Amino acid sequence: MLNTINIMIDGIETKVAKGTTVLEAARDLDIHIPSLCYLKGVNHSSSCRVCVVEVGPRLIASCTLKAEEGMKIQTNTKKVREARKTSVELLLSDHDRECLSCSRSGGCELQTVSNDLNIRTVTYVGEKSSQEKDYTSPSIFRDASKCILCGRCVGACGTMQTVGAINFAKRGFDTVISTAFGRPLEESTCVNCGQCIMACPVGALTEHENINDVWNALENASKYVVVQTAPAVRVALGEEFGLPVGTRVTGKMVAALRKLGFDKVFDTNFGADLTIMEEGTELISRITSGQNLPLMTSCCPGWVKFMEHNFPDRLDNLSTCKSPHEMEGAMVKSYFAKKMGIDPKNIVVVSIMPCTAKKFEGSREELSNESMQDVDWVLTTRELAAMIKEAGIDFVNLKGETFDSPIGEGSGAAVIFGATGGVAEAALRTVFEITSGKDLETIEYTAVRGMDGIKENVIELPNGQKIRTAVVHGLGNARKLMEAMERGEKAYEFIEVMACVGGCITGGGQPIVDARTSERIDIKAERAKAIYTEDEAQTVRKSHKNPYITALYEEFLGTPNSHLAHELLHTHYVKRSKF
Ligand code: SF4
Ligand code: SF4
Ligand code: SF4
Repeated sequence: MLNTINIMIDGIETKVAKGTTVLEAARDLDIHIPSLCYLKGVNHSSSCRVCVVEVGPRLIASCTLKAEEGMKIQTNTKKVREARKTSVELLLSDHDRECLSCSRSGGCELQTVSNDLNIRTVTYVGEKSSQEKDYTSPSIFRDASKCILCGRCVGACGTMQTVGAINFAKRGFDTVISTAFGRPLEESTCVNCGQCIMACPVGALTEHENINDVWNALENASKYVVVQTAPAVRVALGEEFGLPVGTRVTGKMVAALRKLGFDKVFDTNFGADLTIMEEGTELISRITSGQNLPLMTSCCPGWVKFMEHNFPDRLDNLSTCKSPHEMEGAMVKSYFAKKMGIDPKNIVVVSIMPCTAKKFEGSREELSNESMQDVDWVLTTRELAAMIKEAGIDFVNLKGETFDSPIGEGSGAAVIFGATGGVAEAALRTVFEITSGKDLETIEYTAVRGMDGIKENVIELPNGQKIRTAVVHGLGNARKLMEAMERGEKAYEFIEVMACVGGCITGGGQPIVDARTSERIDIKAERAKAIYTEDEAQTVRKSHKNPYITALYEEFLGTPNSHLAHELLHTHYVKRSKF
């Protein structure tokens, strides 16, 4: 066949499609070629040269080498092994090598490659390049002393997210990963999505840790510490304890949080149901008035900041709703505090999120009331796992427990917020029923599910009104959609955007999956499957049917979009620089 090529790898004859790289062909044959800078779909720069193979007399990086008819490749000769060792030793000679205290110890790809290549000493000794550490961002911590200049973060930020907040700067030995003009990350166009962390093979990029802040709050007897957990955390936390990808650990997670000493363990799903009530009402009213359409979701702080930098003239299209954990924080410090007779100043709200951008969001002054932040601290899924390990809790053998009431209960519609399409589906379940006054027989809107970058669907309400919906995930796709709308090629009434590809299930705060594993296991699909199974397991699957939400409106807020609801649950945005 014209489109296939015959090659031989380590004496094994194989046929591959034209355009296949030697690395891909070898991996299809289960031949292990180590690699570092290669990250499928994100970075193919062949800069580290760890994946070299021998083709005739030459050593060539296999990640960018396209297979050619009759090519004979050797992956395991003395020359190949020595070349790989030399490349890794050179990287190690300019690396801080404080593995024991590194957050990636045990999950570091440089450590794995060094071990696999049996490197026991580092021959090369010399001057170290940049040792700069940048703590300025509330979300992301950068440590240049650990950076191996692989460029995976540059691919994630520039190519995938089209943010381009970081790139290579300077030359030769002075080369660094830097923001424009070397500004602190906090002052750059970074949207805090954390996808650079997920791409980084070493500990050069991590979240800005807040574990000690939370330990301090828990140890302060005058504080009432409430924790809430986002839907995507429960389908990924188990991976940090060796459980298979996609294992649901909701009950164990609740039990672990109680053991850590939190006074109440709430579910952010309650806040998600509240978001649907507020945002659904906002959608109906915008459609009725014809103003500020399309309505764009605002629950993803990465997307919100992306809009603030890149499309500042379209900020009126964003929903004014705070995100679910911010709404929940606001309700803890008002409704719940009043119910319990606690001074809200003594309440500390901690959010466990799959997300690094939520750390930035938690610190935004627009998300506060009476000089109190709605949420005090945000921890990622990884930070929660670290606390559980530090406390010596045997997570895997914990017996499941349930969330606390009255604001700890959520519907199935709220759970699916964790996957791309989930917010749109949850909103459509509620908007359809509220406008029709009838119960839906089929509540799954499968058209907005799945991993296509841009998904479109038209739903017709009983009054004949059509809602043209787009669901987008990954900021690269979001930019494409925004630009198509600016050119007048696309028009919608409702758009859901999640900054991370796949949605929060693969957010920047989730367990990091190394490059090899992510080639073998479809992480997004496994975690999304777990999210939809969690939805099916709920007895209440529509936000407006959550009895605790009904009670909240009856006892406290009045109606959705009421004056009090606006004061506590809605916000505004700021225009930011494009550069
Ligand atoms: S957090 Fe996101 S936007 Fe910021 S540098 Fe990393 S990938 Fe780029
Ligand atoms: S920060 Fe990490 S991903 Fe970026 S170049 Fe350095 S080692 Fe590679
Ligand atoms: S998609 Fe989710 S995890 Fe990613 S930035 Fe947005 S809210 Fe955070």
